[in-house]
Amino acid sequence: MHHMPPRRCVVIGAGVIGASVAAALAASNMRVTLLDQDQPGRATSRWSFAWLNSNDKAPRPYHDLNHAGMKAWAELAPDLDGDAWYRPVGHVELATKDTAELEARVKRLTGWGYPARLVDAAEAAVLEPALRVPPDAAAAFFPGEGYLLTEPLIARLVARAESLGADIRTGEPGRATGLEPGAAPRVRTAAGAVLEADDVVCCAGRWTPALAPALVTVPLIAWDTRGSAAPGLVVRVGPVTPPGPAMVVHTREISLRPHPGGLHLEAPDAADAVDLHTPEAELNRWAAELLRRARRTVRGLDDARVAELKVCVRPLPADGQSIVGRLPGAPGIYAAVTHSGVTLAAARFLPHPAILYPERAEVPRPGTRTTSPPTRYAPARSRPRPGPYPR
Ligand SMILES: Cc1cc2nc3c(=O)[nH]c(=O)nc-3n(C[C@H](O)[C@H](O)[C@H](O)COP(=O)(O)OP(=O)(O)OC[C@H]3O[C@@H](n4cnc5c(N)ncnc54)[C@H](O)[C@@H]3O)c2cc1C
Repeated sequence: MHHMPPRRCVVIGAGVIGASVAAALAASNMRVTLLDQDQPGRATSRWSFAWLNSNDKAPRPYHDLNHAGMKAWAELAPDLDGDAWYRPVGHVELATKDTAELEARVKRLTGWGYPARLVDAAEAAVLEPALRVPPDAAAAFFPGEGYLLTEPLIARLVARAESLGADIRTGEPGRATGLEPGAAPRVRTAAGAVLEADDVVCCAGRWTPALAPALVTVPLIAWDTRGSAAPGLVVRVGPVTPPGPAMVVHTREISLRPHPGGLHLEAPDAADAVDLHTPEAELNRWAAELLRRARRTVRGLDDARVAELKVCVRPLPADGQSIVGRLPGAPGIYAAVTHSGVTLAAARFLPHPAILYPERAEVPRPGTRTTSPPTRYAPARSRPRPGPYPR
């Protein structure tokens, strides 16, 4: 009996998306090489708030895609040592003004079958005992939400891919080349190796546009310019005196969740104020401010100090939607780049259906634009802000 040789696939980038793609392709009997210029999971995914949610993700198909991503992690967790990284702890949001927006959002979400309910200040304090709830606060509880610890998750995805035969090459930048019509795609590494492949999947996060620049412009908003909306400020503080908060908590002035050794903090105005050029003194000032806000919001931070501080860059597609699928004009080259990549990275939404079943022209996935008009890949003219931070 004649056996077809396995398809060869090179995945460029071992963040949460590339690691997830590589594990799923290796599980489908593809011969996978996973390439990263650094160690796996050291870039955006490492610093992500990593909130699993579809809390405010319009339009409806994009909401459904994120909701499906949440469910997919729940299904995957038992089989991938989820105790180490899966935290379906729920989310409490407090609002002391603009409560109409919160009420309208909860109403919309429940209408869409998404677990959400308004609670009063007393119930919010019971749900999250570490919370200092102002008596006049409106609150909402989202029991299906949570967060992921991306470092242990990515380590397990990469180990799973390797155990299924994938070749993991780290510390080696790669660039997709060899894109002449009809030719199989190739990846050239910085060390000069040429990897022949049937398929190449570009999962290099914010660096994706640089992978095959002569071929196609993947439209992300510029992230290294002054005033760019892509960078955010991540502050990690600790220690927390037990019992600290267990849930994801949002108020209008602070977002927080547990992180090993303490809490992970972000704030919308801090994200707006910083970019990759912000002086260190200014970053330190913001970090101290976020710690003050966190102390006002939850108990347990009396002994806490700023432990880590990072300006972290979100890969932001110019039109706010995920870029997932085959790149136009580039046979065998795929991209998977998106904001909310932690929520969305559960493998089934990523490009493998199209890779595994190439005879099917397109495998539709809700909320992604696999059949994008080529103009989508022209340089972005406008730079829309992302939705309410950091959703
Ligand atoms: C502050 C902040 C908060 C966020 N909050 C959330 C949230 O709450 N929920 C959510 O779902 N999402 C959130 N996100 C978004 C989410 O973190 C990202 O969408 C996701 O981490 C992107 O993963 P990635 O694998 O595409 O990119 P990355 O994690 O950046 O990985 C890309 C990898 O590609 C490698 N690479 C780059 N170029 C090359 C090359 N030429 N050759 C080889 N390797 C290369 C890099 O070394 C890196 O390891 C947040 C992001 C930020 C910055």
